[in-house]
Amino acid sequence: MNYDVIVVGGGMIGLTMALGLKRQRRSVMVIEQHAQPDLPDALELRVSALNHRSRALLDELGVWQQVSEFRVGPYTDMHVWDKDSPADIHFSAAEANADDLGAITENRALEHFLWQAAQTAGVVITQTEQWRLRHCGDDQQAAEIEYGEQQRAHAQLVIAADGGRSRLRQQAGLAVRFWDYEQVGVVANLRMDTPHEGVARQVFLPTGPLALLPTPDAHVVSIVWSMDASLAQTRLANKAQLAQFVTSESGRCLGKAELISEVKGFPLRMQYAQEWHQQRIVLVGDAAHTIHPLAGQGANLGFADCVSLLAHLQQSEFADLSNLTRCLGRYQRERKADTQTMIAAMELFKRGFGTSNPLIKAVRSLGCLAAERITPLKQKLAEVALGR
Ligand SMILES: Cc1cc2nc3c(=O)[nH]c(=O)nc-3n(C[C@H](O)[C@H](O)[C@H](O)COP(=O)(O)OP(=O)(O)OC[C@H]3O[C@@H](n4cnc5c(N)ncnc54)[C@H](O)[C@@H]3O)c2cc1C
Repeated sequence: MNYDVIVVGGGMIGLTMALGLKRQRRSVMVIEQHAQPDLPDALELRVSALNHRSRALLDELGVWQQVSEFRVGPYTDMHVWDKDSPADIHFSAAEANADDLGAITENRALEHFLWQAAQTAGVVITQTEQWRLRHCGDDQQAAEIEYGEQQRAHAQLVIAADGGRSRLRQQAGLAVRFWDYEQVGVVANLRMDTPHEGVARQVFLPTGPLALLPTPDAHVVSIVWSMDASLAQTRLANKAQLAQFVTSESGRCLGKAELISEVKGFPLRMQYAQEWHQQRIVLVGDAAHTIHPLAGQGANLGFADCVSLLAHLQQSEFADLSNLTRCLGRYQRERKADTQTMIAAMELFKRGFGTSNPLIKAVRSLGCLAAERITPLKQKLAEVALGR
């Protein structure tokens, strides 16, 4: 089979790329190991706080309306504070002239609607984990993937969207730089005594940040508690006590917590590819970069990759490798710079707040005080949250 593009990985980023390219009248196949995710009845464990830029892309692709009609938790305010110092900062959508600062979306629901839209648009989705890259392509021939029962597919461009452990990235020989945060992101859903009122909250604890994200149910929050790996082991072994710790460590900001879901842990690692493309292969989303979830920006970075790559590919003639390489080079320059800025910011936050050094504690208190009092600085921070 010959396609213009093969996308490996049908998660939220791969399906967005596939749908976007189909809209550009390209023939597209997606290879995904799982079946289409069902719509979840109860609130899912994995959620993403999507900024305005990501939502605008999904809206353009005709998916956001379905997602938002299904179930989303828009938040109008953000409250970030430090357990160990007076550092405390509050942003509101009104200060940034916006209706909300972002929306909590269930990953599974998003993937469900993207899958449906991609299939309706004519994207071929092949469900298999049996595949390998046979050829990265060159100026004479297309890239080649063997899948299933010795079937072969050729494409002018192959997009790796198969997540942080991307097999395609490894097979294409694209190296990554990484460091382990030595933390685990513990996620769960909790019912709180006091309504969250659409405020996304995050408290920096000496062991790592605890986020309480507002869901469509006024009393239910989705937590992402990034804690040191040793502590996570203890917390995951005593799940029944988690709610009690959330209640106390959040300073009872929403009263007493009750656990209403299972609890899962995700090891956290910073990782980015040194080169984002090679011959006819290109990386997007977590296949290109993974970052600390403390600012909820991982998926947003992936959607920004899609916006950039779709724009650069729009007028490109894929068959001509030198033309394609120039186009992928422009995409890499643009996105690598943005990703590195985000990685540096995450590192600053993580190191700045994850220390008990009294000097750094004083500096961070002053920093937060300045951000709280200086309107233009606060507006700038709100704009970063919005993805403007
Ligand atoms: C605890 C936690 C909280 C987070 N919170 C936020 C947040 O609030 N906001 C935000 O923006 N981001 C957040 N993120 C990051 C976000 O979840 C990821 O950036 C996003 O899911 C990446 O999407 P992706 O499609 O690139 O990769 P993935 O979601 O990993 O999708 C990869 C797809 O490829 C498929 N695949 C993998 N290997 C193969 C194979 N060999 N063959 C075939 N198919 C394969 C998988 O089945 C999957 O469907 C969070 C991350 C964590 C860990």
